[in-house]
Amino acid sequence: MSKNIQAIRGMHDLLPDQSPRWQFLERTVAQVLKSYGYSEIRMPVVESTDLFKRSIGEVTDIVEKEMYTFEDRNGDSLTLRPEGTAGCVRAALEHGLLHNQTQRLWYFGQMFRHERPQKGRYRQFHQIGVETYGMSGPDIDAELILMTARLWKELGIDGLELQINTLGTPDERVIYRDALIAYFEQFTDRLDEDAQRRLHTNPLRILDTKNPDMAEIVAGAPTLDAYLGDESKQHFDAICTQLDRAGVKYVINPRLVRGLDYYSRTVFEWVTNLLGAQGTVCAGGRYDGLVTQLGGRETPAIGFAMGVERLIAVMEELGRFDELSPPVDAYLVLAGDQAQVIGLGLAEQLRDGIPSLRLMTHCGGGSMKSQFKKADKSGAPIALVLGDQEVESEQIAVKFLRDQRDQEMVAWDDLTEFLTSLQFEA
Ligand code: ATP
Ligand code: MG
Repeated sequence: MSKNIQAIRGMHDLLPDQSPRWQFLERTVAQVLKSYGYSEIRMPVVESTDLFKRSIGEVTDIVEKEMYTFEDRNGDSLTLRPEGTAGCVRAALEHGLLHNQTQRLWYFGQMFRHERPQKGRYRQFHQIGVETYGMSGPDIDAELILMTARLWKELGIDGLELQINTLGTPDERVIYRDALIAYFEQFTDRLDEDAQRRLHTNPLRILDTKNPDMAEIVAGAPTLDAYLGDESKQHFDAICTQLDRAGVKYVINPRLVRGLDYYSRTVFEWVTNLLGAQGTVCAGGRYDGLVTQLGGRETPAIGFAMGVERLIAVMEELGRFDELSPPVDAYLVLAGDQAQVIGLGLAEQLRDGIPSLRLMTHCGGGSMKSQFKKADKSGAPIALVLGDQEVESEQIAVKFLRDQRDQEMVAWDDLTEFLTSLQFEA
């Protein structure tokens, strides 16, 4: 016998009992983003490998070891997107969205990284990303962070910690870089393999290490603040002032650097302690250098990405899905030959009358008992029961499945009004 084919390691099916949670999250996030004037953009899942090499940078975890890269039939090198920012900039450049205008964009979609699968870390995962172009801040930086704070409020997520930092300008980082190299060179024999390799190519990245053995050395490293110019400092202070005014609490973490090369100035992360090591649920920052790096004119940009699986996990921990309404409002039980014949038509009439009604009609016959079992399993609060007797009298029996209320007989003509009065949750 042949072996059953299974899903790829680290890539998960989203099963029907889970999808209402995702839909709730997606709906809520889309609503909040819309309320700030953001528009959705959808990019392909596959891009040229060069796009990611040029934007993310060769000396990064993603490009060095996490990308799903393959050769197309014509020999081109393609890659499943590991993140959305590069593709978003590519699309915006390609369609002229950046010339003399500002943009506030968002997207939702799968990302692919060949990482070691564990809780909160998968090979296919989902991000909701937000990218803005043409605004050099700090007002837009603050708006983005305030918007994330509102997202958590609407999703019912509390207890996240906001960490912020500034990476300064590329010029400021050049001087800092030398200081970092000088510092880490004192410990070359204690640096892990990644750090050794990055010491002269990208020492900032060493600060981002996940290796606990490196924690002590990293903790002693010089921080960037001493190398910041006035403008960078003012930019950062202005954001802090806005957050203070809005009452959004934050921690300044001078060791917060983003894993990607194209960031400048503002970086931030929202972190939870509910998920163990994979605690960052949202990460973002300013990337003024990326558009020119990809061939466009100088364009200020700032954005963030949320890890959807991690947000869902936090909401599950907090019990935020306990109250989600059941997937159907009513289950139509059809008992008897006459009922079978007119049942579907009656259901269509009900849908005409109440477009929002979620009505599941029993299909496949069977005894009343087995139909009621299915009605119960559907989660519907009521069953509509149509037997031959009801057909005769042009009525339907409404049975309340989740509370003690007595069954009611309702005339077909009154059914729309009756069901509307029950006010099912959306
Ligand atoms: P980490 O430090 O956890 O590896 P990262 O710096 O690689 O994260 P980003 O590229 O900034 O992550 O992605 C933004 C968000 O996407 C992360 O904060 C996280 O919530 C989520 N994310 C990143 N990689 C994964 C993954 N492999 N599985 C699930 N979620 C992920
Ligand atoms: Mg990573």
